[in-house]
Amino acid sequence: MHYCKKCLTPDTRPNGKFNEEGICIPCEYSNNSSIVNFDERLAELKKITNKLSARNRNKRWQCIVGVSGGKDSTRQALWTREKLGLNPLLVSVVYPPKQIAQVGADNLSNLINLGFDVLALGPAPRLSSELVREAFFRFCNWLKATEMCLFAGVPNIAIERKIPLILWGENPALQVGDMGTLGASIWDGSNLANSNTIAGGDLTWFTEVAGDVNRLPMYMYPAKEAMVKNRVQTIFLGPAWPDWSSETNSRIALAHGIRYRGGDPALTGDLLGTRMVDEDWTIVNMLLKYYKLGFSRGTEQANAAIREGLITREEGIQMAEKYDEACGDEYIESFCRYIRIDETTFWATVKKFTNTKLFDITTGRRPKKKFKVGVGMIE
Ligand SMILES: [Zn+2]
Repeated sequence: MHYCKKCLTPDTRPNGKFNEEGICIPCEYSNNSSIVNFDERLAELKKITNKLSARNRNKRWQCIVGVSGGKDSTRQALWTREKLGLNPLLVSVVYPPKQIAQVGADNLSNLINLGFDVLALGPAPRLSSELVREAFFRFCNWLKATEMCLFAGVPNIAIERKIPLILWGENPALQVGDMGTLGASIWDGSNLANSNTIAGGDLTWFTEVAGDVNRLPMYMYPAKEAMVKNRVQTIFLGPAWPDWSSETNSRIALAHGIRYRGGDPALTGDLLGTRMVDEDWTIVNMLLKYYKLGFSRGTEQANAAIREGLITREEGIQMAEKYDEACGDEYIESFCRYIRIDETTFWATVKKFTNTKLFDITTGRRPKKKFKVGVGMIE
């Protein structure tokens, strides 16, 4: 693997890009953000959002924000109301009852307590579990089953309720490095449908599992033409936020009543205990990603901290080494129960998808790492 010279983003990241100096796009972006005038940016953003939401000015909702109730979306909802002066309809695609954690349900209630209107969409639980099982066997990535639904909910409701503006947090091209989503400007989210998630969201296998395409409307992202015809625009808020970070978002959301998972980072890989708290199996999926791409949540958290200047690259390497593989057995056990498989089948499937250049799969139960994090730079 080859790494960004500043952080620990490897060249195995799908849709990732590096500049001639071997620096990844998010590092380049955060480096430039110190010279950005955020007051000007906010004024620019306000102008855009006022214009795009104008036809709903006298309606109840001027825009939509997709939420999970977690730290980022809670802050996003508050920010939209306070800084932009818009009243958002919050749309949440909730996990089925066997999957959602109590904390997740409580955090959605918290948004209602904060005075927001929340629309919760619930996909059918049995079909959902069948799709999760199939996605695990087919891609070793169960999120492929639910991501489509999570992404599609917001634009579908925007069209249905005639709400002209969708607000997103981070710009995934500039702030995460998913370059397929790059738009015409830093605000433009019209290419969100090209993200790693949605672009790979071929519905053929969904139809095979569901047996009938008519069972899948919640999983269908609207066509670009439908968005254009209904004049629904997607705009990123991230570029106007000087202090968008996990830490700040956590602190602000906490001050507004959100609850966190807590727990031991050695078992969850979640250093602050504030990530994806609405369910537990993301922890499992992070482990699966690690065996396929050689990096995971430890690396992502290290990268953010390196860019913020909180830790050195050397310290980041230790963080990645320690937390990329963190996933307690209890989470794997409960996931296996949900999709009705035993753990032998689980590990055999994982090994089928493991990158054997990076991991040894011949000994032990879990694949064993053969590489050293951060060694070998992009040329
Ligand atoms: Zn980087």
